[in-house]
Amino acid sequence: MVDEAALNALREAARLSPDNLPLRRHLADLLLAAGRLAEAEAEYQATLLLAPGDPGTGIGLAETFVRQGKNGAAMAALDRILATPGYPPKASVIAARALLGDGDLQAAARHYRDAIVRDPALADPELAARLTGSAPEPAYPGPATPPGGGAPGPTYYPGPAAYPGPATPSGGGTPGPAYPGPAAPPQPAGGWGHGPASAEPTAEVERARTTFADVAGMDSVKEALRMKLLLPIQQPELFKAFGKRSGGGMLLYGPPGSGKTHLARATAGELGAAFINVGLADILDMWTGSSERNLRATFDLARRNRPCILFFDEVDALAARRSDMRQAHSRQIVNQFLAELDGVDQHANEGVLVLAATNAPWYVDVAFRRPGRFDQLVFVPPPDATARAAILFLLCRDKPLGEVDFAQVAKATEGFVGADLKGLVDRAVEAKLHESIRAGRPVPLGTWDLMTAAQTIRPTAVREWLGTARNYVLHSNESGVWDELLPWLRDLR
Ligand code: ADP
Repeated sequence: MVDEAALNALREAARLSPDNLPLRRHLADLLLAAGRLAEAEAEYQATLLLAPGDPGTGIGLAETFVRQGKNGAAMAALDRILATPGYPPKASVIAARALLGDGDLQAAARHYRDAIVRDPALADPELAARLTGSAPEPAYPGPATPPGGGAPGPTYYPGPAAYPGPATPSGGGTPGPAYPGPAAPPQPAGGWGHGPASAEPTAEVERARTTFADVAGMDSVKEALRMKLLLPIQQPELFKAFGKRSGGGMLLYGPPGSGKTHLARATAGELGAAFINVGLADILDMWTGSSERNLRATFDLARRNRPCILFFDEVDALAARRSDMRQAHSRQIVNQFLAELDGVDQHANEGVLVLAATNAPWYVDVAFRRPGRFDQLVFVPPPDATARAAILFLLCRDKPLGEVDFAQVAKATEGFVGADLKGLVDRAVEAKLHESIRAGRPVPLGTWDLMTAAQTIRPTAVREWLGTARNYVLHSNESGVWDELLPWLRDLR
């Protein structure tokens, strides 16, 4: 219950100091809490005029929209927030509600999952139940019987075909960088509850067909990968002679879509190794308590398929500073992951190379960076103009091509990352396909087609990513761990 007199006093105070942002936010929050949605909406709108980028206000406004069934408006209010690296996880919960209201169960589930991975305190059994279509379940421990009996696996762990990544998803209708993530995890043999200990792995073994030749630019990153992963295997004597041991993993970080997954896959191809791509959020089964089984099964799968590159995408989901994890269970999962990682470094696990990627390296616990774990951090930068031209060339090389000035397109795509360029080429190809069908013959792609497609793509928010990076990194670079990033941050205004 809100106290009407207190509300009136606040209203009066807000009237007297209309520019007092915290005051107006507080008033709007109270109105929302009281269920006075129309009033709350008006107050949030007015507050947003004062501070257009304020995430708390945007989230409050989105919530008033959702509670009034205005789901599209809610997503519009969240659009900018969700595109900002490190946005408050609460935004994802509200997005999940809006998307669920719109019937987009998959996207809703993805947002909900991201939110509770980042902040388990946001868990909402009622919402989770609506996402799974089952009765509410306790967070931990998992239910004895799998939800829905023999029904397919939980819908809130869809295979992230276009998973925008926890740090910088693009909200609303903008296509996120396309992660060629794993297929939807198969249902474990024992169902989703506490079944037998032998879980089916949640990831698939791939035979990578790409090599470093398919990765444009990134010479220094490739070199680092060669030194760390390839050479110790290809020339073990040399390493031995210099007293260097192999082992340890590498953590690739950079803005979403900059090519981390692509590079990891190409490393497997370069080595002729199997490739297992694990979307970490997929194995973090927060509800049925089978995370440990999933983890164990995934590492076992890699051991059975050596030589193998085990690639953990979205590693920040797991490695979010352990102190942030309020639930003992989450800590237990992290510890198990670290133990498995340490196991990979033992002789018994030779031939399993571990790579991980994150858009938010600052969330990754230092425990992950100890020797033998992810002891090398490598920045996968956004491509410069030369690299963009090379990426465009690679993406177009198997298409019917006319005269294409790749340098010109590269110049027009400042700020685009690899995933954006892929989106651009896909769009141009699609348009060309329509034209070819109409013409009854293949009409080759030209510069104009790519330039036109470039106009329609909203590129990944690289500048925002760098801005966030700067906030985190400048104050915590004592050990020089972020040195590679510094030149990129200096140019930022
Ligand atoms: P990330 O894992 O960093 O989010 P991805 O590896 O998924 O990004 O990149 C998305 C797509 O962009 C890849 O599938 C690939 O087609 C393209 N791409 C990115 N970087 C490059 C590159 N350097 N050379 C060629 N293609 C690239």
